[in-house]
Amino acid sequence: MILHTNTTWFTIPQEKVLELLNTSLQYGLTHEEAQKRIQEFGKNVVIQKKAVHPFILFLQQFNQPLVYMLLGAVVITAFLKEWSDSIVIFGVVLVNAIIGYVQESKALQAIASLAKSMVSTANVIRNGEPQLLPAEELTLGDIVVLRAGDRVPADLRLIQVRELQVDESAFTGESIPVQKQTAPLPAQTVLAERTNMAYSSTLVTYGAATGTVVAIGNQTEVGKINQLIASADILATPLTKKITKFSTTLLYVILGLSLVTFAVGILRGYAFIDMFMAVVALAVGAIPEGLPAALTITLAIGVAKLAKKNAIIRKLPAVETLGSTSVICSDKTGTLTENQMTVEKIFADEQFFEVTGVGYEPKGEITSNKKMIHLKENLALHECLLCGLLCNEAKLVTEDGVWKIEGDPTEGAMLTLAEKAELSKTQMQSLYPRIDTIPFESEYQYMATLHQQADGSKIIYLKGSVESILARCQQRLDNKGDIKNFDTQLYHQKANAMANNGLRVLAFAMKKVHQNQESINHEDVAKDLIFLGMQGMIDPPRPETYEAVATCQKAGITVKMITGDHALTALAIAQKIGIVTPSADKEAVLTGKEISQLSDKELENKVKYINVFARVAPSDKLRIVKALQANDAVISMTGDGVNDAPSLRQANIGIAMGITGTDVAKETADMILTDDNFATIKTAVEEGRGVYDNLIKFITWTLPTNLGEGFVIMAAIILGVALPILPIQILWINMTTAILLGLMLAFEPKEKKIMQRKPRKPNEPILSKQLIVKIVVVGIFLCVSSFWLYHHALQDGVNEDTARTLAVNIFVFGEMFYLFNCRSLKDSVFKVGFFSNRFLLLGVILMIFLQLAFTYLPIMNQIFHSAPISLVHWGHIIGASFLIFIIVEIEKMLEIDRKVK
Ligand code: ADP
Ligand code: MG
Repeated sequence: MILHTNTTWFTIPQEKVLELLNTSLQYGLTHEEAQKRIQEFGKNVVIQKKAVHPFILFLQQFNQPLVYMLLGAVVITAFLKEWSDSIVIFGVVLVNAIIGYVQESKALQAIASLAKSMVSTANVIRNGEPQLLPAEELTLGDIVVLRAGDRVPADLRLIQVRELQVDESAFTGESIPVQKQTAPLPAQTVLAERTNMAYSSTLVTYGAATGTVVAIGNQTEVGKINQLIASADILATPLTKKITKFSTTLLYVILGLSLVTFAVGILRGYAFIDMFMAVVALAVGAIPEGLPAALTITLAIGVAKLAKKNAIIRKLPAVETLGSTSVICSDKTGTLTENQMTVEKIFADEQFFEVTGVGYEPKGEITSNKKMIHLKENLALHECLLCGLLCNEAKLVTEDGVWKIEGDPTEGAMLTLAEKAELSKTQMQSLYPRIDTIPFESEYQYMATLHQQADGSKIIYLKGSVESILARCQQRLDNKGDIKNFDTQLYHQKANAMANNGLRVLAFAMKKVHQNQESINHEDVAKDLIFLGMQGMIDPPRPETYEAVATCQKAGITVKMITGDHALTALAIAQKIGIVTPSADKEAVLTGKEISQLSDKELENKVKYINVFARVAPSDKLRIVKALQANDAVISMTGDGVNDAPSLRQANIGIAMGITGTDVAKETADMILTDDNFATIKTAVEEGRGVYDNLIKFITWTLPTNLGEGFVIMAAIILGVALPILPIQILWINMTTAILLGLMLAFEPKEKKIMQRKPRKPNEPILSKQLIVKIVVVGIFLCVSSFWLYHHALQDGVNEDTARTLAVNIFVFGEMFYLFNCRSLKDSVFKVGFFSNRFLLLGVILMIFLQLAFTYLPIMNQIFHSAPISLVHWGHIIGASFLIFIIVEIEKMLEIDRKVK
C-alpha cells in the first residue's frame, strides 16, 4: 500500500478516505499495522527548527550601549599600548557575552520546556478497542476520537461529527470556534474553510467527533508552519519589565552625567584619555546592567523549584503574582478531596441500603437493616445499579493486584458498586449495546446513553445530580418492577440527608423509547423519565488540606470552594476542612441559582464573606472571579473543563488540573498542578512569596554598589583628585561580586514566617521607602569609606596601587558583609542564622580567595594595578565592612520597633 501524505483529503468522501488509508472506523488499525506505519513514517512529533543560531545569539550579546563603550575603551587603550588594560577590558566584554549567552539560552530552554510540559494524549481506536495513547504514537489511518476539551493530536479527516466546534485561533488567528462537518469539499477550499478537517494543535471547544489521521508530525499544517513557540517575551514579568525600564532610564541619566563629568574634567585640564577612561568607569560602575538578567535567573530558579513540587509554571509572570495571591478559589472534587469515591448508601424504592467495602476493589455487600440483599428481589435497586454501570465511561482495572479506575472517579464508584452486586460490565454491555451518548457536562449536570435491548426495544439511561434528574421524572420504579407516581419532595429530603453527611449524591433514571430511535439529544431526556434511585458516595478530604487551608488563612489568604456539587455536600466538606466554621449553616453557601438572581453589585458584596459556592456552572465562575476582583482581590483559581477557560483566563492565576484537566484548560492556565492537589497551590503561593523576596533582596543588595561606585568616580573628578578605583578594577568588582555573591541570593531559602504575613499588595512599589533609604545609606557609606581610607593610606605614605587595592577591597568586603544583611530584609541575620544558605557561604569563601589573589598574586597585581596591603589595612577593611553590617542590622531593629509601636 502506498500512502500519499499530501493528498487533498478534504475533497474525498469519508468512506473512500478510510479505504485509501486502509483502515476502518470501528476497528481502526491493528497493532502490527500501526507499528509498521510508525516505522515507515516516523513519530507524530513536530521537529522545531532552531530559533536563533547559537552564534547569532552570542553576537547579540555585544549589541548593548555599554558594550560599545567598553569596546571603544579596548581600542583606545590598545592604541595607547596599555596592553593589560586593553586585554582585561576585552576579557570582561567576552566573559559578559558568555554569561549573557548562557543565561539567554537557559531562558530559551526554560520556555521550550514550558511548552513541552504539556504531554498530549489521544483517544485512539486500535484493534477494535478504544485506548489512550501518547499523541506521538499516532500514525496515518489511526482512528481518533475527539471530545470537548481535547487538543487535536494530528491532522484528521473527520468521519463522524456530533456538533463539533474547534478553536483554530492558534492557527488562523480567528477566535470564534469553527463548526465542523464531514461532507467532502471542493478542491479550491482554503485552509480556514476546510470544515471536514480537524488540524493538529487546535482545540475542541464543544461536541465530539471521530476522524482518521491523514498527516502527522512535520507534515501537519502546523508542522509546516513550524511556528516558533519560543519567544523571549514570555520571560517578561511585571517586575522585570519595571526593572528593565528603570535600567534604561538609569542608563540615559548616567550617560548624561558621564558627559557632564567628561566636560568638567576636560575644562579642568585633564587629558582626554584619562577622562574617557573615567567616564567608562562611571558608566560601568553606576549602571546596574546585570539586574534584569539576574532577576530572570532568579525567576527561572523559582520555576524549577516549583516544578519539583508539582506546580508547573506555564507563564513566568505567574511566579511573581503567586506571591500576592489574596484569594484561592478551589474546586472541591479531586482538589480538596481525594477523588477516591466509594458508594456507601443507596436509596431505591423509598428504602436505604448500605454498602460495605472500601476503595475500588469490588469486594463488599449491599445490606438493608444488616441483612444481605438479592438484586432479583429488588428491581428498582437492580435498575439503579445497571443504569450506573451502563451510563458510564470509566473502566475498572487491576494493576499488580490493586484495583484502579480509568476515567471519572464518580463513575468508577458506580462500576465498583455494580460489580459488588455481580453485575459485570462486559456482560451487560453485550446484552445492552450502547448506540448513542450525551456526554457529561457540568453545565447540564447529567449524562445519558441510548441502549439496544434483547427484544429489539430501546432504552435511555440517565444519571446526574439529584435536582437535574428529579426535575425530569413524574414516576418511579419500585422493587417489584411496577411504575408509580411519587412525591419528589421525599427524595430531595433523603438526598439532603445524605449530603449533610458529606456524601456526593447522584440520581438515576430511565426511559423506554421507540425502536427506530438511533440517536439522542437533550430534548429526548427533557421529561417523562422514570426514577430509579440514588447513590451516595464518600469522597474524603485529602489529609494534607486541613493544614494547607489553615496555613493559607494565617497568611491572610481566603480559601473559597467552588464546586458543581450539592450545597449540603459542599458545606459538610467545607466545615470539615475549615473553610467555614463547624457551626456554619446553609446561609454560608451561595448556589449557582442564587448567583444568577444577583446583580453584579450584589454579588460583589456577597463574595466578600461567602466562602462556599455550590451547584456552580462554569459561567457563574467567571462572574465570581470578576466580583472578587472588583474587591481588589488577587485570585488564584482552579479549573479543569473546557468551559472553565474564560474564568482561568480572567483569574490572576489560572490553575489547571494536570490529571483531570482538559487540554483546553491547561493551555489557558498560568500554572498546572501535576497532582491536582490543593496543598500544592499553598506550596506554590509560599514559593512565589519566597521568589519575590529573593528578587527584592537581590535588588536591595546590588544597587548600593552601583551608587557607591558612581559617587566615587564623580566625586574624584569634581574634586579634581586621582580616581581611587580604576575602571578595570570596577569591572573586576562588578563581575566577580555579581556572580559569586549576588546570584547566591536566588538560593536563599524562604523565610520561616513567610506564611504569617499578609499578601503583598499588587500595586505596592518594588522598593519601599525603607529599602530606598537603606540602599542610599549603604551606597554613600561605601563611597565615603573607600574614599577616606584611600586618602588616609596615601597620607601614610603607601603608593597609589596599594591605596587603590584598599579601596577595592572595601567595596568587595562591604558587599560581602551587606550580603548577610540582605538575607532577610526585616529579620536580623542572627535570627536567620549564618549557615542556612550553603551556596552563599561557598560564594563568600570563593570571593575571599579571589580577593586574596587580586591583592597578593603578582600576575593579578600586574593586570589590575593592584598591590599587596598590610594587616592594618585589612583591619580597616573589615572594620568598615563590619560597620555597614552593624548599621543595617540596627536599622532593621529600629524599623521593627517602629512598626510595633
Ligand atoms: P464537581 O466536580 O465540582 O463536584 P461537577 O460540575 O463535575 O462538579 O458535577 C456537578 C454535578 O453533576 C455533581 O454533583 C453530580 O451530581 C453530577 N455529576 C458529576 N459527574 C457526573 C457524571 N460523570 N455523570 C453524571 N453526572 C455527574
Ligand atoms: Mg467533576
